[in-house]
Amino acid sequence: MPVIKDAVCSLCGSLCDDITVTVENNKITKIENACILGHSKFVGMLQHDRIETPMVRKDGELVPVSYEEAIEEAAKILANSRRTLSYGWCSTSCEAVSGAIQLAEETGSIIDSTANVCHGPSALAAQEKGSPSATLGEIKNRADVIIFWGCNPVHAHPRHMVRYSSFSKGLFTEKGRKGKKMIVVDVRKTDTAKLADTYVEIEQGSDLLLVTALRSIVNGHADVIPETIAGVPKAEVLELAETLKNAKFVCIFFGMGVTQSRSKYKNGDAMSSLISDLNQYTKAVMIGMRGHYNVTGFGQVATWETGFPMAIDFARGYPYYNPGETGANDLLVREEPDAAIIAAADAGAHFPQKAVRHLARIPVIQIDPYANPTTEIADVVIPSAVVGIEAEGTAYRMDAISLRMKKLIDTKFKTDEEIVKDLTAKVRELKRGA
Ligand code: SF4
Repeated sequence: MPVIKDAVCSLCGSLCDDITVTVENNKITKIENACILGHSKFVGMLQHDRIETPMVRKDGELVPVSYEEAIEEAAKILANSRRTLSYGWCSTSCEAVSGAIQLAEETGSIIDSTANVCHGPSALAAQEKGSPSATLGEIKNRADVIIFWGCNPVHAHPRHMVRYSSFSKGLFTEKGRKGKKMIVVDVRKTDTAKLADTYVEIEQGSDLLLVTALRSIVNGHADVIPETIAGVPKAEVLELAETLKNAKFVCIFFGMGVTQSRSKYKNGDAMSSLISDLNQYTKAVMIGMRGHYNVTGFGQVATWETGFPMAIDFARGYPYYNPGETGANDLLVREEPDAAIIAAADAGAHFPQKAVRHLARIPVIQIDPYANPTTEIADVVIPSAVVGIEAEGTAYRMDAISLRMKKLIDTKFKTDEEIVKDLTAKVRELKRGA
């Protein structure tokens, strides 16, 4: 009975790489070290909602076909399209992402990732102000003040605090939780906030005000702060600034409560400036709590291949990037795409109504292991292997460290990488014949 050690959990951006998996008769029978979310991915999700076979919509119904027929139909859609949107690609491997970018370039498409509707604004902030960061290993070993700002790892990244941050023990943090100060800034008292030493409750959408107030205090201008800022009494803000200045190593982990609240990318921009200000006194870094396990990887691969992290338009024959114009939702709401590939994501469930309505009107190719609302509007459905379980591949953790995910069991499904390669070859063939 094979026991596979150090498997990587391909669920959240923590990419825990210490999972032990027991496999019997090509079935995963035991998981050790994974949290409840990881456990459900390794065992539960393999058992339900799988797309069992490729499908093509005929007379309004999705009917089973071979991989070859599905790829052929998908390639015809792409070859006949003048403006394809390729969206998703964050719950798959970097190798598949690289292939998807190549396909987008060949077809003059726009390719965008799920980051555009989650941590995309922090990518914009990083472009303007940089992203003073560290590895999770360094944070585990050194950080004595940890802030979770607009995120709730107890529910979204359950092992994060134990492995890397507030509860972990490291080289210079051997007392673990006892030697660390944990602060939560949020608009409501989350389960993470209940574990904190200090909980700072701010008014909805006022993150920028609090970050700016902290910057003013750190830079010696406490006198400009009103008696209450962002709904927080001045005395509390002064105390928070002192805690940060007097720390040995500060890490701010920030979530979508920061990137998607009012002021959007300016929140990350100001936070990056706060980190620079704090580095006059101590060591300080910031890290986004990335959700999809390889959303960081999409940004890495896209940036090294095109120069841009998301929302890349190849229509001009070269990469063009202008979020707000070339983002998936921007395009769909303007009703521009005449075809779409939705891969390893569920636009049908998560996009605004107007965007989904346009998707429902155009040919949609879905590449995904699981059925979801996007399946309902897809014209070609291509099932894929689950990376990290049925296929190996590379992914980037939230701190931009790359990890190799293992293949644990055999499968009848093609990998995303193979599907994209076949699709690209077929599109080339159709174009040559045209
Ligand atoms: Fe998997 Fe995330 Fe849980 Fe780690 S914290 S086991 S990566 S779901």
